[in-house]
Order: sequence, then structure tokens, then C-alpha cells
Amino acid sequence: MPITQDQQAEIDAQRGQTSQTLRATVSGIEQHLYKAHDVLDHGFIRVIDYMGDDSAICQAARVSYGKGTKSVQNDEGLIRYLMRHWHSTPFEMCEIKLHVKLPVFVARQWIRHRTANVNEYSARYSILDREFYIPAPEDLAAQSVVNNQGRGEALSGEEAQRVLRYLQDDATRAYDHYEEMISQDDQQGLARELARMNLPANIYTQWYWKVDLHNLFHFLRLRADAHAQYEIRVYADAICEVVKDWVPAAYGAFEDYRLGGAQLSGKALDCVKRMLTGEVVTQETSGMSKGEWREFEGVVRNA
Ligand SMILES: Cc1cc2nc3c(=O)[nH]c(=O)nc-3n(C[C@H](O)[C@H](O)[C@H](O)COP(=O)(O)OP(=O)(O)OC[C@H]3O[C@@H](n4cnc5c(N)ncnc54)[C@H](O)[C@@H]3O)c2cc1C
Repeated sequence: MPITQDQQAEIDAQRGQTSQTLRATVSGIEQHLYKAHDVLDHGFIRVIDYMGDDSAICQAARVSYGKGTKSVQNDEGLIRYLMRHWHSTPFEMCEIKLHVKLPVFVARQWIRHRTANVNEYSARYSILDREFYIPAPEDLAAQSVVNNQGRGEALSGEEAQRVLRYLQDDATRAYDHYEEMISQDDQQGLARELARMNLPANIYTQWYWKVDLHNLFHFLRLRADAHAQYEIRVYADAICEVVKDWVPAAYGAFEDYRLGGAQLSGKALDCVKRMLTGEVVTQETSGMSKGEWREFEGVVRNA
């Protein structure tokens, strides 16, 4: 269970308190504040705080004295222009702080995004919970035969059962030993900072993660993408749902230009122009490598 009854009571109490403010607030994200959105089997994301809204982006771009808003269409047009032309600093005026509970192996990928502020649960000070990520049977996939960095079909039959059993048994045994080593019943008890080293990478950790909207979009572009590992992608997808409600115009532009759009090289653009004149362009005549051509075809043929 991602959230205990005590934790839920704390969240409810926090949601029960309100105060007046002159700051910009967004009703769309207020509904998410503090609530846990479940991700994977024990994980979640929660919005702890946010700053700014769509108008804050326009306000900064126009360096205005008021809200920066001219009209909704005008603002949306400006935001799309900024996104289209990679004018990123106005997006940095919005910030969000999330509480994330995630498996350690996902955290290792996540932490590579350096342009955020992080504070992680201390396993030197506190005792980690007995919570491990065990994939659902349909997510227990075989190694991909076409992509070394990916997965293929779900495992089946006896192999699937055996893998699940190994994952569960190994996690249970490692945690039993962890508990036994830190115990101070009739023994000194190993320091928590040392005892944690035998725990597997599917144990859950938690952190507060604060990031501005520009860098959040960068994170989401990479991690809400089909090439990202499923276990981090589901977190990115959950964050996308929140961002959509927070800054709808900025998210709309991001979805269109970054998630849904594609960048073309000079050679690729030249091929598009030649194709538009009716020429049949092949990989051999494109000037592109086989890999580039495959990706290019993926963009123009399946669009
Ligand atoms: C599908 C996928 C596969 C991956 N595979 C691997 C892998 O096999 N091995 C591996 O090690 N990593 C891998 N990564 C991680 C990847 O290389 C990046 O480390 C990660 O995506 C963070 O990206 P970033 O550095 O752009 O983000 P951030 O750290 O948030 O940085 C954002 C931007 O800020 C700038 N910046 C930040 N810090 C610096 C700096 N110190 N110097 C200069 N510019 C800076 C850069 O322009 C950067 O793009 C993978 C990522 C993805 C999405």
C-alpha cells in the first residue's frame, strides 16, 4: 500500500487548512496538492508546492508590471512561440515541488537529471520499509531481440513464475537479514548505514524533488518517451497529468512541439523536400546512415 492510514490522515489535515494569498494560484493543481497519485505497486507522486502559472510565463517574457496576461489566446500564442523557438527562461519562472516514492533502480535513472533540487529519505537515520517493487506479470518482459536497451514480450509459463518467485524470495530474505542485523535485541546491532548495503535495488526510497518547468519539460521529454524504461515512464506519465492541470497552455505547447513533434537534421529536411517533389528517396540516396534512416522513416511514415 503506497500510503498508510496515518499518512492519509496527515494529508487530509494538510488539505483541510487554507489561507488567503495574493500569489497566483491555479485551481487545476490545487486539487492535486498533497494527494498521493499511485505509481507502480508501492510508489506515488504528490504535489507539495508550486509557484507560477501560464500567466507567469507571459509575465516574465513581457517583463510586465501586472499579471502579464493580454488575453487567453494571446498568451497561448506567446507560449507556443516561446516553446517553438526554444526561449526557455520564461518557463523557468514556474516551479513545482514533488514528493516521490520510487524504487532505488528508478531513482538512479531519475537522479541523472541534475537541474533539480533533491532531498532523499535517510537510510542512515531511518529504517527502510519492507516494500519492494515486484513487476505485474504483464510487465515481466524478456530481453528485446532488436534493442539491447529494451524489453520484448512478457515472460510466460514456468519461467515467469520462477522469476517472480526469485524476486519475492530474494527481497524477503535480504530484508529479513537487514532487520536481524540492525536489531538491538541481545546484540549491539549493525549501524543502519551499513546494514542497508545488502538490500536489493527494487526497494523503495523517497525524496522531495523541486524543479522548474523548463527542466521538468526536459525530464518529461526524455522519460515520458517510448524509449524510456517503463518503470520511470509511469512516473513521468503521472507528472504529465499534473502539469496538464497546472499550466495547460504550456503543457499543450510542450505536448505539440516536444512530445508529439520531431527534430529533423539538414539531410532529413532535404529528403522531405525531395519527397514532396515526387522523388522516391531511399536510404542509399538519402545520405543518412541505416540507423538515421530508420528513425527518419519512423517520423515521416508513421506520422
Ligand atoms: C532512454 C535513455 C537512455 C539512457 N541511457 C543511459 C546510459 O546507458 N548510461 C548513462 O550513463 N546515462 C544514460 N541516460 C541518461 C542520460 O545520458 C542523461 O544523463 C539524463 O537523461 C539526464 O539528461 P540531462 O543531462 O540532459 O539532464 P539534466 O542533468 O537535468 O541537465 C539538463 C541540461 O542542463 C545542461 N547541464 C546540466 N549539467 C551540466 C553540466 N555539468 N555541464 C554542462 N551542461 C550541463 C545540459 O544542457 C543538460 O542537457 C539515458 C537517458 C535516457 C532518457
